[in-house]
Amino acid sequence: MQTTQNVGDYISNTCRHCNRIVSSRLVRKSVALARTRLVVRDVLVDECPDCGHMISLMPESIEQLREVSAWK
Ligand SMILES: [Zn+2]
Repeated sequence: MQTTQNVGDYISNTCRHCNRIVSSRLVRKSVALARTRLVVRDVLVDECPDCGHMISLMPESIEQLREVSAWK
């Protein structure tokens, strides 16, 4: 069984803004898709606790974005 990550979990990731490894926190937020005007709500991403930079999207969120972009 696959472990799913939840809001509030901390993962180690490199913040490109701070240029160091941080314990980023998972949050759900609205993400605007590049090249489109679509905004996907409740996307699971991890954010740098220091600068608030969005570090990465969780795999489940990438699927979510794909579905939205395919849906015209
Ligand atoms: Zn940062």
